[in-house]
Order: sequence, then structure tokens, then C-alpha cells
Amino acid sequence: MPGASSESPLRIGVLASQGDFAAHVRILRELGADAFEVRTPADLAGLDGLVIPGGESTTITRAIDRDGLEPAIRAHAERGAPILGTCAGMIVCDSEHLGLIDATARRNAFGRQLQSFEAELDFDGVGDEPVRAVFIRAPWIERCGDGVDVLARWDGHPVAIRGGNVLTCSFHPELTDDSRVHALLMAMATGARERSGSEIETTEAEGG
Ligand code: GLN
Repeated sequence: MPGASSESPLRIGVLASQGDFAAHVRILRELGADAFEVRTPADLAGLDGLVIPGGESTTITRAIDRDGLEPAIRAHAERGAPILGTCAGMIVCDSEHLGLIDATARRNAFGRQLQSFEAELDFDGVGDEPVRAVFIRAPWIERCGDGVDVLARWDGHPVAIRGGNVLTCSFHPELTDDSRVHALLMAMATGARERSGSEIETTEAEGG
């Protein structure tokens, strides 16, 4: 039944432990996703995509631990479903936290005098128009592995990276009316859904 599942809206969960999760849900709905807040391991089952929003990385990490979400987040990543981590979410995904992407983020990297600022970024894979980015006590990427692509830099530092199905950015894409970062997550989710659909078809064709 090719296409049957790809016709239903993408189910995208937004981790609602802390931070600006409601704005992510709103943008994803505007883009046509079936988007909702995620608080329990059961909420994570069968998602096409997951957003880990900004906030405070230590608080989010503790909440993931407290709510027993780590195995379900890991299972989501392992079946190839995409994840978008923004700001604190970038830190939560890095090698020193959940280890979902081979990269190390530096917290509050832009320093105290630059607590928050906006910038226009050239961002690979979302079109020629620069992305207007809102940075709030943002991290940057200090190290990333060979399999990780840098999609955007600010002041020479990587601020958006992608490794496999994990996309992370230092800024807050939910705070502008430019939804291209969320659209990129949804394109990744569509790709992942098509790949897993064709795996099922191949298995069925082989009689398995
Ligand atoms: N400074 C925060 C941290 O280190 C991140 C800030 C944010 O998500 N806006 O966790």
C-alpha cells in the first residue's frame, strides 16, 4: 500500500519539560503537522519527529531523567526518526549529554554581554534567503565529528549542524515567523517515513 501512511499528517512531538514548547507546536501545526506536547515515554511512541526546545539544559536533562524519557528518545533516534534540538535542546543532544549527535556544544558561548541578539544567517538547505535567528544565552558548537555537516555559522562558529537525522541549532526558530527550520525537520520526517515504508514493502515482497 504505497503512500497510504505518507498521506496522513506527520506526527511531531515537542518535548514539554520546560521552555517555549507551545510556540513550536503552533508553527508545526501551521505547516500541516499533527503536533503535540510530549511528557511521557508513551507520548514518544511512533512519532515521525521530535523537537527538544530551548530553555535551560540542566533543567531539561533532569526532567528527561525524572520522567524516564531517555530510552524512548533513544529508540526514536535509533529507528531513524528525526530530532530537532534548539538552543538548550542542542546541548541536550550533544556528545556530553544524550549523545544523539557527534558534536560538543559550549553553553552560553557568546558571553554575558551578548545575552541575546539577532542575526541573519546563511543556512544550507533552506533556500537562498538568509534565516533571521534569535540567539538567547546561546551555545555554539565547539567540536563536531566527520559525519556532521555545518549548516550555518555565526562569527565563524557553527550554530546549526546536522548529523544523520539529528538537526540542532543554537538559536530559537520558534520566535520568528520564518518556519524554514521546522519545515526542514518535516522534510526529514517525510524522508524517514518513506524509507521505513519502503523497508516494510521490501520485507513483504520478500515474504517476510
Ligand atoms: N543558556 C541555556 C543553557 O545553557 C540555553 C538558553 C536557551 O535555550 N535559550 O541551557
